[in-house]
Amino acid sequence: MNDALLTIRDLSVHYHTDRGELKAMRHVNMDVPGGSIVGVVGESGCGKSTLISSIIRLLASNAIIPCGSITFEGRDLLGLSREEMRRLRGDRISIVFQDPMSTLNPVLSIGRQMVDIQYRSSASRAHKIKRATEMLASVGISDPGSRLKQFPHEFSGGMQQRISIAMALQAEPALLIADEPTTALDATLEVQIIHLLKKLQTDIGCSILFISHHLGVIAELCDYVVVMYAGEVVEEGTTREVFHNPAHPYTERLLRCDPASIATKTRSLPTIPGEIPDLVTLPQGCIFKNRCEHVMTQCEHLVPAWIESHSGHFVSCHLAAKPGND
Ligand code: SF4
Repeated sequence: MNDALLTIRDLSVHYHTDRGELKAMRHVNMDVPGGSIVGVVGESGCGKSTLISSIIRLLASNAIIPCGSITFEGRDLLGLSREEMRRLRGDRISIVFQDPMSTLNPVLSIGRQMVDIQYRSSASRAHKIKRATEMLASVGISDPGSRLKQFPHEFSGGMQQRISIAMALQAEPALLIADEPTTALDATLEVQIIHLLKKLQTDIGCSILFISHHLGVIAELCDYVVVMYAGEVVEEGTTREVFHNPAHPYTERLLRCDPASIATKTRSLPTIPGEIPDLVTLPQGCIFKNRCEHVMTQCEHLVPAWIESHSGHFVSCHLAAKPGND
């Protein structure tokens, strides 16, 4: 991926715990090109939340970053002061969370909140209200002028999420981080929000880092996909290439577990047997070996190299390095 807006290199994040150092994210590399949508997919515990917290520099107090860099618009985020970071958040980098009610203040009207978050702007109050009205209209809220007077509880869950997106994009950020923004919505609303994000991304020209465990949503929305497992990136490439030719056994199992890929009626949905390894005491060799159907002798003690299996398609698996697997 070229012309990256956001570049993450060799990033590791550990947490001090009573049991020892929990290595939540290890040596992660990732690019988010300008004007593109990059999906990050993986099950719980894969490091998605730690990744987001690292980018916006809101890690828990017991976190340490033993190595790595995060470069955004040419600036190393890990080297910025708290004040410099605060100026970036909500302006150049915005975030939409899974639950809109964790974003919206229940005791303030939508209009008050949408004007308040323009505190950096020197524009008049009338101009800020006009901007808030335009943003509500752009996310499909009808009669936006009068709805600014309403409170969050007067909107449905889908509308609350639309309002969260409007607030996040109001300052026209360069990067929107969308943290499972459709997980709490039903299937119909999910599709609407996906189409809305795609349209706004095109209109504003921003990039989106889209975090999800829902493969169908990633396939619909994203240009590139990064697959994470137990704190490591195990595969990445264009969405089309990774979904059509998954090179890592974990990605392949994730795709097989996607309900949309099940053609016949069944009473039990497929799962990936086993559990994520203990991240305090990491196993030797491949991190996925205890759950892999293709485990080989070298997987037990050798960490697989990061190789390009096809043009622009990277994977960390001994299988991909075997002759004949090109
Ligand atoms: Fe499976 Fe070995 Fe590949 Fe790991 S390196 S995913 S254990 S085949």
